[in-house]
Amino acid sequence: MTRMSARKRIALVAHDAMKPAIVAWAKRNREILARHELFGTGTTGGRVAEGAGLDVTRLKSGPLGGDQQLGAMIADDKLDVLIFFTDPLTAMPHDVDVKALTRIATLEQVVMACNAATADFVVASDMLDSEYTPIEEETDHAR
Ligand code: PGA
Repeated sequence: MTRMSARKRIALVAHDAMKPAIVAWAKRNREILARHELFGTGTTGGRVAEGAGLDVTRLKSGPLGGDQQLGAMIADDKLDVLIFFTDPLTAMPHDVDVKALTRIATLEQVVMACNAATADFVVASDMLDSEYTPIEEETDHAR
């Protein structure tokens, strides 16, 4: 949970049924996204790179370890924003990986959007292009 620089490290992930939606969203927000460093799970990253003409560093496909690679990046303070278009209507073989990724993102104060409306709010925020230090949340957990 360290300070985020003005140029954010943003991951893009979408479950299969949601891939057209994330490509359309990335196209709509191409100019904003191009100012930041983009990562993606294998298939999503490829579709966004091709469909929106953005430079995306591709990890493994989500079900083959890509979600876990993103989780590892978060644990190492190497990711600031997670745009994760989850499919709420389909059971996933890698549901445990999805849970693990959203859990570590929550824990580490990653900015996370799981649908297009929230993602729109994230990219509309002035904070996206500014440095930001997450506050230490007041919880009863020992860390
Ligand atoms: P994919 O992975 O982009 O490689 O399809 C996404 C996921 O299902 O986690």
